[in-house]
Amino acid sequence: MGPCIFCQIIKGVEPAHRTWESEDFLAFLTIRPCNPGHTLLIPKTHVDSVFDLEEPLYSNIFRAAKRLAEPIRQATGAKRIGIAVEGLSVPHVHLHLVPLHDVGELDPNRHIEQTQQELAEMAGRIRREIPKTGTEGEI
Ligand SMILES: [Zn+2]
Repeated sequence: MGPCIFCQIIKGVEPAHRTWESEDFLAFLTIRPCNPGHTLLIPKTHVDSVFDLEEPLYSNIFRAAKRLAEPIRQATGAKRIGIAVEGLSVPHVHLHLVPLHDVGELDPNRHIEQTQQELAEMAGRIRREIPKTGTEGEI
């Protein structure tokens, strides 16, 4: 098995459309979104399952998700932000924060095509919303 792709993103070895980070967490856009703005929130330490996260990381990743949800909703115009944890493809904890406009969109088999340019623009929109809704600072 090769190096963990998310650890490579954390180290900056692999590129990602980053939207937010703290000492313990990083948020970036997935390149295979269910909808535009589909964000992955990960801990900076390599842990496989979300239920293996030690406190306070376990509580804090959900607090971070809560704080990111409204900026993502504002940036995308979504009705709601769905949350999903699956972890079967990459063995490094990741919360999916998925902008939803209709029932059935929180589907791991649903992918829309987005160019790098579209991803970069969306990441910029989300980053600009974050200070407005008070998501800056450490969690
Ligand atoms: Zn990892």
